[in-house]
Amino acid sequence: MEDSAKIENITVFWGRHKGPLIYSNTFVVETGQTTVIVDPGGESGELTKLSDKKAFIVNTHFHGDHRRMNYLFTKSDFFAPELDAPMIESHEQFINAVGITDKVLREQWLHVVKTIYNITEHKIAGTFRDGEHVIDKSYGIKAIALPGHTRGHSGLYFESASLTLITDIDLTDFGPWYGNEVSDIDDFLASIDKVRQLHSKYFITSHSNKIYTRDELLPLLDRFAAHVQKRDRALTELLETGGTLSMDELATYGIIYPKNSLANNPALLFFEKKMLEKHFKRLGIKI
Ligand SMILES: [Zn+2]
Repeated sequence: MEDSAKIENITVFWGRHKGPLIYSNTFVVETGQTTVIVDPGGESGELTKLSDKKAFIVNTHFHGDHRRMNYLFTKSDFFAPELDAPMIESHEQFINAVGITDKVLREQWLHVVKTIYNITEHKIAGTFRDGEHVIDKSYGIKAIALPGHTRGHSGLYFESASLTLITDIDLTDFGPWYGNEVSDIDDFLASIDKVRQLHSKYFITSHSNKIYTRDELLPLLDRFAAHVQKRDRALTELLETGGTLSMDELATYGIIYPKNSLANNPALLFFEKKMLEKHFKRLGIKI
């Protein structure tokens, strides 16, 4: 497979998954003005080259896989959704948004963020909200608020290519991910509905390696959203048949993540529990 694809003035560098580290697709937009780089989440010699000059870096939300290479861009200005900007400016806010409260776990997380993921804090030069142009109108990139994954999670519409980036509505077989304190299942589903109503020529996500037409996209959105109901059902059935189970026990059944991936993986267990909590809330069940 190619490392990149080009559509009009936008080059997409496909994110590569290497071991446990997660990478996102990166978008380099040549505008005739300052180069715009959206989500420097891939490891690429091209990004290193681009970092020699001042660029405008846009992060679609605060997650580490979308800003792993932010650290390269020491000469650049950073832009982010208004609601997620504080988590990019401060690791403290980042950890709060993830929802880690235990002091020891916070220290461990901070260590991993800094040393393994190499994620750096950046002052945000400009923020954007739903329907606003990113940076300014002349760059032809419009923000689409798609909350649920995080509060500020945003899609982008690239006007020159009639291309919509739907970010982490990523159409993967895993399904929607809402494992942070600030995530919300119903908002996520409403955002999927919002994408259904968009009429751009092309669509792309942050984690799949394909450009979709709207006809190709619509059934994939349905399949992606259906994971939520499947998880609701699996949890309800387990509660009916499994007797009284604690959250620690429930989290080992593999309702969200594959069961075998959860064993001895405290990070995935944390996210499994966070996501189950949100299903409990949605189903109106007290734990
Ligand atoms: Zn994300």
